[in-house]
Amino acid sequence: MNTRREFIEESAGAMAGIAFVGCGLADAASAQAQTRRREVVVNGRRVKTVDVHAHCSVPEAMALMNLKVAPETLLMSKASDRIRAMDGQGIDVAALSINPYWYKADRDVARQLIRVQNEKLAEACAANPDRFVAFASVALQHPDLAAEQLEEGVKKYGLRGAGVGGSVNGEELADPKFYPFWAKAEQLGVLVFMHPQAAGAPADLQNRLKGSGGLGNVIGNPLETTIALSHLIFEGTLDQFPGLKICAAHGGGYLPSYAGRSDAGCVTFPDWCTKPLKKKPTEYLRQLYFDSLVFTPEALRHLVAETGSSQIVMGTDYPFPWTKTSVDHILGTPGLTDDERMAMLGATAAKLLGIKP
Ligand SMILES: [Zn+2]
Repeated sequence: MNTRREFIEESAGAMAGIAFVGCGLADAASAQAQTRRREVVVNGRRVKTVDVHAHCSVPEAMALMNLKVAPETLLMSKASDRIRAMDGQGIDVAALSINPYWYKADRDVARQLIRVQNEKLAEACAANPDRFVAFASVALQHPDLAAEQLEEGVKKYGLRGAGVGGSVNGEELADPKFYPFWAKAEQLGVLVFMHPQAAGAPADLQNRLKGSGGLGNVIGNPLETTIALSHLIFEGTLDQFPGLKICAAHGGGYLPSYAGRSDAGCVTFPDWCTKPLKKKPTEYLRQLYFDSLVFTPEALRHLVAETGSSQIVMGTDYPFPWTKTSVDHILGTPGLTDDERMAMLGATAAKLLGIKP
C-alpha cells in the first residue's frame, strides 16, 4: 500500500483518470488531483452551485431489510468518483438523499434502520464537509416516529431536512395521519425533498406502464409527483402548514406543465372541490420548490413562468446519468437575469439547506 503522498502523486501523474477503489485513502485530495474543478461564474461573480437531487445508499441500513446496494456508484465509499463528477460538472455541493425502501418496515426495524442511515449520512458529510450535506431519512409509515427522526436528524446529526417518497404504501402524503411529520418539518423550517418511487404507482397503473421505454420510471415517476402535489394542494395540506418547504423532484412532474387545468376544475365543476382553499390551486406552485431536471431550455423557461425563478433549484439525479449538463442548462436557458441564474444554480438551495455562501 502506498503512502498517501505517493498515492496522490501517482493519481495526478501516469495513472490519472483511473478510478481507485478500496484503498481507504482520502478521497477528496485524489479526486481533486485528477479532475480540474469547474468553477461556475455568472457575469464575473463566482456562484456556489448546489445539487439538491443526488442519490446515495447506506449498505448497513439496507442490510436490515436484506437488500443490497445497486448500482455501486450510490455508495459513499466511492465519494472520490462522485466528487470527480461534481468537479467536472461544476457542482460545488451535493445534497444527498436516499429513496425510501423502508416504508414497509415495522416500528422497531424502522427505528434502527433510520438511526444507522442518518448516522452514516452524517459521517459521509463530515468526511467532505465542503462538498456534501444530506437530507435525513425518516420512517414516514410511522408518522410520529418520522417527526422524532427528523428532529434528531437535524439537531443531533446536522442533516438539513428530510427526503420522502411521493406516497407511503399507497397512502397520500396529504392524509391527515402524516400531519405530525408535516408539523415538525414546518416547525423546524427545513426543506423536505420529495422523490417519487416507481413502486409508488397503483398496481393497475404499474401494469399499464410495462413494456418498452421504461414507462414506469419515464412517465410513472413524474406522474406520482403530480398526484402527490395535487393532493397536498387540493386536500388543504399546504393551507394547514403554510410554512412548509417542499421541493419536488423532476421539475414537479407534470403539474407545472398543465397547471391551468387545476384552476379550471373548481371553476367549471364547483361540486368537485369539497375542501375550501385559501387561494387558487396554481398559486400554491409559488410556495413549492422544484428541481431543474426538465432537460430542455423551453421546459425550464415554462417552469419558471409557472412557479417563479425563486422556486427552482438545481438537480442532477446523480449517479443516474440523466444529465451531466445541469449547470449549462440553467446558464443556457434564455430570458433569465443573472440574479435568477445565480438563485437557481445555488443561492436559493444554499439558503434552504443552511449552506454557507
Ligand atoms: Zn432521482
